Amino acid sequence: MLNFFDTVPIPTIVVNNENKIVFINKNGLQFLKLTTQDFVLIPINFFFPEMEIIELKNKQNFTSSYINSNGVNRPLLIQFDTYTIDNIEYKLLYIIEFKKNETDLDTIDSSFIKEKENEIEIENKLLKIKNKELEEINYIISHDLQEPLITVISYSKLLEDEYQDKLDDEGKMFVKFINKSAVRMRNLISGLMQYASINKLEELVETNLQIVLEEVQEDLANKIKKYKVLINCEKLPTLYCYPTYIRLLFQNLISNAIKFSKQDVYPKIQISFTERENDWLFKVKDNGIGIDSKNSEQIFMIFERLHTQTIYKGYGIGLAHCKKIIEIHNGEIWVDSILGEGSTFNFTISKKI
Ligand code: ADP
Repeated sequence: MLNFFDTVPIPTIVVNNENKIVFINKNGLQFLKLTTQDFVLIPINFFFPEMEIIELKNKQNFTSSYINSNGVNRPLLIQFDTYTIDNIEYKLLYIIEFKKNETDLDTIDSSFIKEKENEIEIENKLLKIKNKELEEINYIISHDLQEPLITVISYSKLLEDEYQDKLDDEGKMFVKFINKSAVRMRNLISGLMQYASINKLEELVETNLQIVLEEVQEDLANKIKKYKVLINCEKLPTLYCYPTYIRLLFQNLISNAIKFSKQDVYPKIQISFTERENDWLFKVKDNGIGIDSKNSEQIFMIFERLHTQTIYKGYGIGLAHCKKIIEIHNGEIWVDSILGEGSTFNFTISKKI
């Protein structure tokens, strides 16, 4: 959800109520010459040491400076605003760099500051309108759209069950199509809602991933038994993460490894990890049908699938979920695969989430 601030054309840092960075928008990363969100949960004073907590508390605008890529100390104006998402209040810090001829802080023209403040105010209003719109759309999708769909599903089911004798074969087939499409749409909507609800939470939890994996295997026990799946896994570590999401991630990757297995070959899944300096690297390797390398990025996009429903059922949401889950763990996810020769899904979980 915080990615939303990427639409703000001004370098913007979002901080939580402990004055720690929770998000830097694209312009902000560019401005601070950073390439990743590695600074998440670092106190804001790291970038602006002269910034007093009192200023943050009172949300006062203040002037600061920053050494740019040419080694030149450039004066800045930091303007504050607050923003509430899911009942959590965030502080927004807009970074405004003064133009070349305004390098001396003492000579900064107050009309210039005013002008910049007005620009930000307009941007901010637009942002608030956009967010309101998003909230409304969210509500419409989760409530208003579901209602008529449920009606379609239940009446088409009624038609199918109660009007068996009155419908000819073609009529029965049409009713089946209606029901199938409506169920599909309901599933797509709930997938989309689930996708939208994956967000950075306040509390990271020290989690034993071995236990998480065991729980996932219990949940998938029927499938594992039915398809005679062999899961080989080294003892997984304990680390800080959002456990509900990591559980969903393992569940999706293992379910896919089973679903996309080769006909007449028992699925074999190998799970391994390596602890590295800044993160943990995990690998989930299968002996399934594999993926053509030209599709290796597309499969992580929502609703993107490489197969029709008739061969492999699904909605193309699982890997999009995985990608979002890994993004909020400041990691990366990718696949190494050769078509026909199995796939290895790799993902990292940062030690600085
Ligand atoms: P779904 O499983 O519902 O199709 P996903 O988002 O989980 O959606 O996967 C997207 C696509 O990626 C799948 O349709 C499939 O083509 C491909 N895919 C995912 N996992 C695997 C795998 N382990 N082996 C081969 N192909 C896979």
